[in-house]
Amino acid sequence: MTPEKIEKISELLAHWPGIGPRQARRIAFYIADLEKKDIIEIADAIKEIGNIKRCKSCFFIHNEAGENCLICANSKRSKDLVAIVEKETDLITLEKTGKFLGRYLVIGELSKDGILTNTNNARIESFKKSLGGEILEEIIIALSPTTKGDVNASVLTSLLEKSAKKISRLGRGIPTGGEVEFADEETILNSLLNRK
Ligand SMILES: [Zn+2]
Repeated sequence: MTPEKIEKISELLAHWPGIGPRQARRIAFYIADLEKKDIIEIADAIKEIGNIKRCKSCFFIHNEAGENCLICANSKRSKDLVAIVEKETDLITLEKTGKFLGRYLVIGELSKDGILTNTNNARIESFKKSLGGEILEEIIIALSPTTKGDVNASVLTSLLEKSAKKISRLGRGIPTGGEVEFADEETILNSLLNRK
């Protein structure tokens, strides 16, 4: 029988991405075995993350004093080129190339069937509103070349077609079924350069 406190942490962890009930229980037992100071360090770090803000423009998380993240606050970055990514980790992968000089919209976890969540819709609305009728040069839909990415890319294309002169997707580079998040710098750079 699993002790109650272990059970409680396991239940919480089991909702985390990529963690199933069995792994959650293993992690809970691992934490129980740590020294008290290490447990406090983890708990404090989690509490700190609760204070992080979301950028008003692109929805990436940040720690800056103002409302915008460093990317959106950087006047050297083009306002005319926007890459739409699903997750923060996808943005980080694209940023690592150092070659993308536009801005982003982190749209949030997408569903498998292309039905947009409230978060997705709210972020698209906010993005469109921020354009104030202005038409961008290009929107790159930087979703993974998976079935889920394809379904959502067509939904996003139809929603945003009036917001940019061109709507592209990442091209050759990431293999079909591969994910943006896990692509290495060279691969993602090729996909970016070969966008279509
Ligand atoms: Zn931002």
